Amino acid sequence: VIWLGQGEHSVVTTCAYCGVGCALKAEMKGDQVVRMVPYKDGKANEGHACVKGRFAWGYATHCDRITTPMIRNAITEAWREVSWDDALAFAASEFKRIQAKYGCDSIGGIVSSRCTNEEGYLVQKLVRAAFGNNNVDTCARVCHSPTGYGLKHTLGESAGTQTFKSVERADVIMVIGANPTDGHPVFASRLKKRLRQGAKLIVIDPRRIDLVKSPHVRAACHLQLRPGTNVAVLNALAHVIVVEGLLDEAFIAARCEDMAFNTWRQFVSQPENAPEATEAISGVPARLLREAARTYAAGGNAAIYYGLGVTEHAQGTTAVMAIANLAMATGNVGREGVGVNPLRGQNNVQGSCDIGAFPHELAGYRHVGDAATRALFEEAWGVELQSEPGLRIPNMFDAALDGSFRGLYCQGEDIVQSDPNTQHVAAALSAMECVVVQDIFFNETAKYAHVLLPGSSFLEKDGTFTNAERRISRVRKVMPPLAGYADWEVTMQLARRLGCDMQYSHPSEIMEEIARLTPSFRGVSYEKLDRLGSIQWPCNEEAAEGTSIMHIDQFVRGKGRFAVTRFIPTTEKVTRKYPLILTTGRILSQYNVGAQTRRTENVRWHLEDRLEIHPHDAEDRGIRDGDWVGIESRAGSTVLRASLSDRLQPGVVYTTFHFPGSGANVITTDNSDWATNCPEYKVTAVQVLPVAHA
Ligand code: SF4
Repeated sequence: VIWLGQGEHSVVTTCAYCGVGCALKAEMKGDQVVRMVPYKDGKANEGHACVKGRFAWGYATHCDRITTPMIRNAITEAWREVSWDDALAFAASEFKRIQAKYGCDSIGGIVSSRCTNEEGYLVQKLVRAAFGNNNVDTCARVCHSPTGYGLKHTLGESAGTQTFKSVERADVIMVIGANPTDGHPVFASRLKKRLRQGAKLIVIDPRRIDLVKSPHVRAACHLQLRPGTNVAVLNALAHVIVVEGLLDEAFIAARCEDMAFNTWRQFVSQPENAPEATEAISGVPARLLREAARTYAAGGNAAIYYGLGVTEHAQGTTAVMAIANLAMATGNVGREGVGVNPLRGQNNVQGSCDIGAFPHELAGYRHVGDAATRALFEEAWGVELQSEPGLRIPNMFDAALDGSFRGLYCQGEDIVQSDPNTQHVAAALSAMECVVVQDIFFNETAKYAHVLLPGSSFLEKDGTFTNAERRISRVRKVMPPLAGYADWEVTMQLARRLGCDMQYSHPSEIMEEIARLTPSFRGVSYEKLDRLGSIQWPCNEEAAEGTSIMHIDQFVRGKGRFAVTRFIPTTEKVTRKYPLILTTGRILSQYNVGAQTRRTENVRWHLEDRLEIHPHDAEDRGIRDGDWVGIESRAGSTVLRASLSDRLQPGVVYTTFHFPGSGANVITTDNSDWATNCPEYKVTAVQVLPVAHA
């Protein structure tokens, strides 16, 4: 806390929007926030912040906030306002009743990547220790779960390799499936600064994002691929690197597994991966593929930054592994200016995965089947843990529809709006007997809930977030929780009613427990966070102040493992009926489903989601700029206003998903990544036609 005099003070905390994790100073008058300013000593942002962090915090005191718990016996009934005691007792008795009737595995929980590490840890502990199963998952399932799987398989750790600052030493920067100027603006500024100093930029994206060509920045190559062909393009780059002798043979010999490398080299050398073959698949000219491969492999320090345009595909995990292959093949891992860097969408996606919110992993990415890991947690929690992985979020929905999954505790995620195939999610929730929603607003999911528990915003609680560079930063309470309790206190109260003896008086005690039980967090404490400002994990006996660059002398898994990444086209095909491919993205002023940003002044910059369509496709259909259009896919239909745009190639349309009425997820399909079930949001075959009016 910094005291400013005249009743004013400021508190350093962390932005609750994107995975950059900017440190902000909440300037206070009494217990009122009057301004949010970027904190100059924040290591992720160095005194910068974007329009979301600076101006979009007013939602915390918006009149739509839920401040009273509510219950009802059926979703057709009206809500009844009740006390916290009554709401928690009702939820606990319903969960007990369901388990008695349908079995231990008939309920589960969802951890929010918007909440703190400590809150996520408590939800997964509630599920494992009080529910007695592993049916816990996080909203990372629908965004970066392929990153966790792909990077662990190849490099040995489910996290990015670098600090953001590392980009300042990059000579070549490859941005694939990400739009940093809108999605990660403060990091984008750093990246653009490096480009202005002469670094070369390769963009791989179906849309001409701002980075491709702006007043001060121009990409050396833009590979404008067809949505769904990332893996083919990455394999083509690898093919050129191998056949043109651009491999870093010394790095590979010293650092990578021989047999896996030889198998991979043979695979990528095949003609099916040659640029000419890939041009036919992806639409990217073979000449550009060669140019990009040579620039990446021979241009000095080369760093890859990627986003949901890589992960949210049927081959999301394959693409992540193909990216890791490229970095290993060219020796671009283990020092500043290089690496593999997932740009995480939400503030705490990294953290929610780190603390054990997956159905197959306990904190620190240790499998539930590992007896030694289980024994550690069993001793600490005084319970016996299941050794079989639990249900992922989409499996929970399927199980609800077949009658074996009947109760859900959902903290801070609007699954009806944010998960694919809305109709399927709604049907699954309607089939459940007890849905507990804990949120700051009455969201779409709450329409299917039986218990509504008021959530707390980032301004109302202590805790930590972990950003995309593994940086753990403090979230500090600047005002009391509007409804009386912070989210972690509510989870603790519910767990106690279910017989799990949680006794924490402050989130710092939860972090102590995480550190005690998780090797990569062993050296993390609130005292150290206050002293250092932030810490990048691993932080332990070997790295007392944290680790900025990973895999320096050897990979976390020992030797790096190349993966064979065969391109398999998505089953979502264009046809005469659905001749266009829809892909999605974000806009600078808004955030995800817009629950927060739509309730702030930022709404003035973006009033609605629109459908971008190429002028040729629009002309073919008689669509003019601003017309209402119907968008129909195999899953459903919606209506949006059209914007004519040559940022896309003909045959591809694009929209954002910040407004509930836009219905982007009404039309996305059930297709998902083969390894992690991450939805294939980025490829939906659609037809677009003019409609009279929405
Ligand atoms: Fe920083 Fe992201 Fe917040 Fe913007 S939204 S201030 S870039 S953390």
